[in-house]
Parts: sequence; C-alpha cells; structure tokens
Amino acid sequence: MGPMLAAIEFMTLIKDTSALGRRLVVHLYGSLALTGRGHQTDRAIVYGFAGLHPSTLEQHQLTPLTKLFDKLEPIAFPTMPHIEFFPHRDILFHQHEWLEEHPNGLKFELQGEEGILVTETYFSIGGGFIQTKRELNAVTAAQLSPTVPFPFSNATELLTLTQDHGFTIAEIIALNEQSLRPLDLISQQLETLTSAMTHCVKRGLTATELLPGSLKLSRRASPIYKTLSDPDNTQSIEASDWLSVFALAVNEENAAGHQVVTAPTNGAAGVVPAVLMYLMDHLGYQSAESREQFFFTAGAFGSILKRNASISGAEAGCQAEIGGAAAMAAAGLCAVLGGTPEQIENAAEIALEHHLGLTCDPVHGLVQIPCIERNAFGATKAYLAAKLALHGDGRHRVSFDQCVESLKQIGADMSTKYKETSLGGLAVNVTSC
Ligand code: SF4
Repeated sequence: MGPMLAAIEFMTLIKDTSALGRRLVVHLYGSLALTGRGHQTDRAIVYGFAGLHPSTLEQHQLTPLTKLFDKLEPIAFPTMPHIEFFPHRDILFHQHEWLEEHPNGLKFELQGEEGILVTETYFSIGGGFIQTKRELNAVTAAQLSPTVPFPFSNATELLTLTQDHGFTIAEIIALNEQSLRPLDLISQQLETLTSAMTHCVKRGLTATELLPGSLKLSRRASPIYKTLSDPDNTQSIEASDWLSVFALAVNEENAAGHQVVTAPTNGAAGVVPAVLMYLMDHLGYQSAESREQFFFTAGAFGSILKRNASISGAEAGCQAEIGGAAAMAAAGLCAVLGGTPEQIENAAEIALEHHLGLTCDPVHGLVQIPCIERNAFGATKAYLAAKLALHGDGRHRVSFDQCVESLKQIGADMSTKYKETSLGGLAVNVTSC
C-alpha cells in the first residue's frame, strides 16, 4: 500500500511541475527490493501510477493492468500519454543497497532527454504510511504542539488521562478525533472500515482459487469454514477455530492481491478483522457503539506502538506487525467486553509481550508463509490476552510501554536477515520443489 500511495503522490508532483518527461524510473532499496516481487510492490506501483487508490479500487480495474504487466508489455497512463512505462525495465530492484533513513526506501524519477527532471524519495514506514526524506527527518509540528484536547505519547499517559478525567480509553480517543473532524464523518469512516473488513472476511471464506506465486498454495479458509458451518459437524468448535478461519480468510485475500484493510499493516491485516468478526457474529456485539469502542481502543495502542517503536516488519521484524495487530485487537476486545482502562492496557501488553522476538522471514518473499497462519495465531493470542486480562484486576508487573521499549530494542538488535529481506530463517530453509 505504501509504494502504491507513493506512486500516486509522485504522479501528482509531476503534474504540478508540468515537466514533460519521457520515462518514469523507480528504484527500490533494502527490504522493498529484496521482497518487492513477492510482496507485489512492482504491481502496486503500476496501479498507483494508473491513478488507482487502495481505498476505492475494484478488482476489475486491476485486470487490464495485470495482463499488460504479465505479458511484459508497456503500460500507458491516461494522465501522462507521452510516457511509456515498462515495469520490467523501469522498476529497478537494488537488493544490496539500503537508504540510511529507513529499510523500505523507494526513489521515483521522471526522466527527459536532458536527464532527471523530477525526483522524490519516499519511505514506506508501515501501516500504509509514507514519508518523503524531508518529512522523515523532520519532527512534525503536530508532535511539538498537539492540537487534540487529550494528548498522550504513551500508555502510561493515556491511563493517567482516564484516571484524571474519568473517561474510558475509547472516550478519550473519540474526543480527540472529534477535535479534528465532525462526529458524523468519524462514524461514517468507521462504518466504511467495518464494511471493508467484513466484506474481506466473507470473500476470503468462499474463495477457492490457488494463491498466486511460486508456492502454489491452496486456500484453506474456505474448506475450514465449510466444516465449521456444517450442521452435521460433530467436532467441538472453539473460539480459536472461528478466529483462525476469519484471519486466514483475510490473509489469503491479501496474498491474492485483493483489497484488505491495512490494520496495522497488510501482512498483519487479518488479526483485527478476525477479532471484530468474532465479536460481532459470535459474541453478539452488533452495535455501532461497540464497533467504535473496539476501533478507538485498538487504534490508541497501535498509535502508541507506531510512535514509540515500529509497526513495520522491515524495521523491527514480525513482532512489530503481528505483535502490534494482536495488541490492538486484544485492547479493542477487552474494552468491548467491559474491561477497565487498566485491564485493557494489560490485554494489549500481554498480546505484545508474547510476540517479542518474532522474526520476519517470508518464504520466496511472498506474504504467505509464515504470514497467513501467523495471523491466525495473532488473533487467537489477542483473544487469550483479553480473557487473561479480564480475569485480573488490571494490576500487572510489565507495562505496555516497557513492552514497546523492549520491542524497539529487540528490533534494533535483530539481524537484517530477519527483517523482511527473505535472507534468513524459513525463507532460506524452505526450498522450492
Ligand atoms: S512474516 Fe510477519 S512481518 Fe514479515 S511479511 Fe509476514 S506478516 Fe509481515
């Protein structure tokens, strides 16, 4: 998603400068170069250049572009008719070069007869967020002078706000959000989010085609779902069965290149929707209020992790992606099930703590092994974390902030081999048939 948004932004930049170039060239560096083909980064860039946006794209819009891409044919963009783009020639994978600012770097160039006319470097920093080199290096104005009524920079401060003002975590976030945009817009956005997540789960539960890529994996969500839904099934069905099948469904959709909600990343996109689906369909929390409580609380812990450590596998390994998703889902679930702010913080902490040290080593660079199953484990751990926290009174020995700091330190010490480069672990030990 980050590279796609970067491509959209670069197209806007070119249009604004009205430079008449002939060739677009994209350089991918570091993790993006090493896993870019498996992660379909090159295709995402083509879609972004074509003006497709991840939040609105329909599958049928991708088909003509995908055909040209697969046939190695040039692609013309309606807004840039003078440019012919050959993705296989013009997207360069610099697998041994790293930009110093971030492991996921990409540089765009518009070239003319005289050389480079426009260039910009972006970093895909996780969660679909991108920053230019300038933005990454700058301390944002918002960080210096927060414009929300209840600013906080970590979980300890967030808990203090709840204690001082008597609000729940979700209420604090809701009030902050309302200071930035109207309430009905927020509600509408949350409903869009819910609908995108639930549709994705439902598509994944019925899709049967093989997953694309060299591993030739079959989908598992659909047959498992059939078994679970079969009225004649005599096996006992646990919460973990449903959580797993929902998470598998989403991440098979992600592996197929279909639309998912980045929550907090695409690789870890199954955990939060799986827990949400379980909450709505199996625990009966169907109201918009419950969903708001879930999302606001989950978002609070995701934003703390992003701010103080990372949600990016390329930066800190899978502990940041699946661990972050599990912490968010655990917090959201605990809140809806009636947890106090202290129990919610405990739930997020438990979920994150038991992902610490998890490496990112996707086989063949595809977001399939171990990613798809890993989401099922993330969702199940999130559920368990919320339940454990609810059994306690909120007092606990390890805080969420200590866990976040640990994740940051472990991520910094972790070998690059285990940070979305496919150079170590499963990625080198699971060989091709
Ligand atoms: S192993 Fe984890 S962090 Fe790496 S791509 Fe897969 S889900 Fe993302």
